[in-house]
Amino acid sequence: MTSSFRASYDFFAPPRIVFGWCRRAEVGKLARSLGRRAFLLHGSSTLECSGVLAGICGCLRQEGVEPVEIGSALREPEVVDVDRTARALRESGARSNGGSGDVVIAVGGGSAIDLAKAAAAMATNRKSPTVKDYLEGVGAGLQIDEDPLPLLAMPTTAGTGSEATKNAVISSFDPPFKKSLRSDRMVPRIVLVDPELSVSVPPTTTAYTGMDAITQLIESYITVKASPIPQAIALQGLALAAQAIVLAFRDGGNREARERMAHAALLSGMALANSGLGMAHGVAAALGIHARVPHGLACAVMLPVALRVNQGARPAEISRLGEVLCGRGFSSPEDGARAALEKIEELSSEVRIPRRLREINVTRELLPVLVKSSRGNSMSGNPRQLSDEEILSILESIL
Ligand code: NAD
Repeated sequence: MTSSFRASYDFFAPPRIVFGWCRRAEVGKLARSLGRRAFLLHGSSTLECSGVLAGICGCLRQEGVEPVEIGSALREPEVVDVDRTARALRESGARSNGGSGDVVIAVGGGSAIDLAKAAAAMATNRKSPTVKDYLEGVGAGLQIDEDPLPLLAMPTTAGTGSEATKNAVISSFDPPFKKSLRSDRMVPRIVLVDPELSVSVPPTTTAYTGMDAITQLIESYITVKASPIPQAIALQGLALAAQAIVLAFRDGGNREARERMAHAALLSGMALANSGLGMAHGVAAALGIHARVPHGLACAVMLPVALRVNQGARPAEISRLGEVLCGRGFSSPEDGARAALEKIEELSSEVRIPRRLREINVTRELLPVLVKSSRGNSMSGNPRQLSDEEILSILESIL
């Protein structure tokens, strides 16, 4: 027996997942089971202009749910965005009251879902007027003691898997940090995945978000907190995403590719919510804040080097990833691990992910700052524990 098996674990997942092409038509009925008034938050002007959001509002009205537009998330959410949206919810008298109160609906990528998750939590947890006091590692260390307003999440980018996780990632540029608001209570009550919603995502965003999902599937599989159910889930997601990402990038209207990517992204969220992540995500948070690199792009640039760095600590697991990515067996763990790395580099280049940090506006002077900001929940799950000096030399090697 080569790879490790953890025989004691908990497993956590959203209580209800509804997945299927065109199934957004069911949003009225689903929302009706959570409330009578729906605060709608979206994350894409394309979906607004194309009439998709109006269609969702129509489905809500048909079932007797009153839609109220509460805002949009057109950037990765910041503390001020959460505070403003939570205030708007409170001022509207939003409250959960079994099936007769209010529900929050997020239609968008990780940015919209995270903003909705955090605002829904801050609407009911009122010990501080700012979410900063509830974020991990910064602020006052306050906890989410009250259930948030119920959330129905409709992901549209096939990337973050935020629809299935219990955290929301919130940024600040002054002071600079990118940290999570985290509580088991924050997982969406209903996840409604309609892969057709991702058809309008442009190729570059498809590449970034798809590589984010692949990074999450890989890092959750090899992390120190990996356990059997998320690992099984991750392998299925990875097999599907490896076949579909290039197709979705080249032909956004390809239904099968979009379905596979949406499912893989959902699985990546379930895997990360249980197992955590690793070095690529640790550094990606720092790149987001200090170099303003979009989250998925940052993960994609870091993934090959993260695989290389962790190869010695997880030979059997990385070899298994190579088998799944390539769809065939290998005669030795070294061959499997080499194949995993080559396949990731091949996929990255096919969807035009840059290989070097300087291509995403990172300068040598920034590296020590990135090292300092890379420490957090994700980095602590990395299979190989890394000193600051090691992280610096890893970043120098891909500058
Ligand atoms: P995003 O939500 O920022 O969206 C990227 C771009 O795609 C935006 O310009 C958006 O307007 C556009 N877009 C979204 N849907 C579209 C559609 N259907 N058609 C056309 N354009 C569309 O990107 P993302 O990668 O999904 O989310 C990134 C955020 O999620 C980051 O803040 C990241 O830290 C966070 N994240 C959260 C978790 C979690 O578990 N909570 C996990 C990973 C990442």
